[in-house]
Amino acid sequence: MPSISKLRYERDFSEDIIMNKKITVIGSSNIDLILKLNHLPVPGETVCDGSFMQTFGGKGANQAVAAARAGGLVTFITCVGDDNYGIELKEHFKQTQMNIDYIQTAQNTPTGTALIFISDDGENCIGVAPGANNLLTPDHINLCSNSIKSSDIIVIQMEIPEETTKKVLNIAKESNIPVIMNYAPIRDFKINIDNKITGLIVNETEATALTDIDVNDMPGVAAAASYLLSQGLQFVIITLGAVGAYISDKSGLTMTIPAFLVKPVDTTAAGDTFCGALSVAITEGKRLTDAVKFANAASAISVTRIGAQPAIPTREEIEDFTANQ
Ligand code: ADP
Repeated sequence: MPSISKLRYERDFSEDIIMNKKITVIGSSNIDLILKLNHLPVPGETVCDGSFMQTFGGKGANQAVAAARAGGLVTFITCVGDDNYGIELKEHFKQTQMNIDYIQTAQNTPTGTALIFISDDGENCIGVAPGANNLLTPDHINLCSNSIKSSDIIVIQMEIPEETTKKVLNIAKESNIPVIMNYAPIRDFKINIDNKITGLIVNETEATALTDIDVNDMPGVAAAASYLLSQGLQFVIITLGAVGAYISDKSGLTMTIPAFLVKPVDTTAAGDTFCGALSVAITEGKRLTDAVKFANAASAISVTRIGAQPAIPTREEIEDFTANQ
């Protein structure tokens, strides 16, 4: 078995020489236009003296990059626009050493764009224009179905059209491929778990939206996780920001894995970094508790840096960080 660092530098995605587990991430890609301000504007307010930064984001892309940097062999399925941002994104994904063969380019459509305000105390406020992300259709998923069926794990979120998500879940179910679903952001349709999702990852707000249980204290967290698990999942993880992450699985395990103590500057991609890193740890065969520790470490590093993808750590950074705790 080659070392992780060897895989990182000598990747070959042809089906017969893959030596690592194949993680397929299906989801959104955005250009993030970020303004760092001393406080978040309220409606009608103009906050001056900000600093500007353009980075790559989108929940799908963040999770794909997080998995690739954490050592995973990632195929990313997304849809970008036929603008310069779309070209930049594809080049970026290639440099992150993902398989980009299944990225779709939508004609006469802008790439997804997010406008992000970040305050000095690390809070954020985000508006998104999905653009090409809304054109990631079930037809495109059909074209990629052989690649999807050869995956060891699928990672999906809620920033693509509902019918596309359903199509992916059906293919995964037919082919018996485990699916990690990050139910984020909250949408006006609820997912029907229906034994099609292996593991669900949500934050406290998303857990409340999915269960109608108030998830603002530990009894609420436990009740929501228990309810979600009863829908046919193998495991549920409710991420708790600076507190860490709560796990509940089918074996009866329930516990909180504490977060690492860091000074946050921007929490933009914390949940996405967590999901990407977790998928790698799971495909490496780690126990769920160890996988969550690994994901907690990756996301703790991410909150100490500004931006979505620039904040996501490499495998070496995660291992150094963990070794120094
Ligand atoms: P989301 O970004 O989806 O809202 P959370 O805020 O729950 O998700 O963060 C996801 C994970 O990131 C947490 O489970 C934790 O491991 C890590 N994390 C988030 N905020 C902090 C923080 N202030 N300090 C350390 N780790 C953090």
